[in-house]
Amino acid sequence: MSTCIFCRIAAGEIPATILHQDDEVVAFSDLTPQAPFHALVIPKRHVSTLNDLASADDALVGRLVRVGATLAQERGYGVRGYRTVFNCNADAGQSVFHVHLHVLAGRSLTWPPG
Ligand code: 5GP
Ligand code: ZN
Repeated sequence: MSTCIFCRIAAGEIPATILHQDDEVVAFSDLTPQAPFHALVIPKRHVSTLNDLASADDALVGRLVRVGATLAQERGYGVRGYRTVFNCNADAGQSVFHVHLHVLAGRSLTWPPG
C-alpha cells in the first residue's frame, strides 16, 4: 500500500469528492478549500514534484492543465476567471509530494500571492 496520500486517493483507498477521472488523471475537491471552488488535478502515476517530470510527461502535464481548465469552465468560471497553481518544494509551500494542479475560482484572487 502506498504511503502517498494522493496515490491512495487515486487508488480509491482514501475517500475524496472526485470531480473527474480518466486513464491518466484524477481531479478532486481540496479538503481545505481556499476559494469557493478549489480542485486538485493529479496524475494517477506518482511523480513527487515538478522537478521530477521528464519530456515524456509533456502530454500528461498538458492533460492536467486542460482538465483543470475544463472543470473551471464547466462551473461557469471561464469568463470571470480562475487561477491554476503548481507549488514546487518548500518556498512554494508544497505540502503533499505528489504533483498536483490547484484550480481556484469563485472569488477575486490577489496578486502577488503570499
Ligand atoms: P500543496 O500545499 O502541496 O500545494 O497542496 C496540498 C493540498 O492538498 C492542500 O491544499 C491541502 O488542503 C490538500 N490536501 C491535503 N490532504 C488532503 C486530503 O487528504 N484530501 C484532499 N481532498 N485534499 C488534501
Ligand atoms: Zn503519490
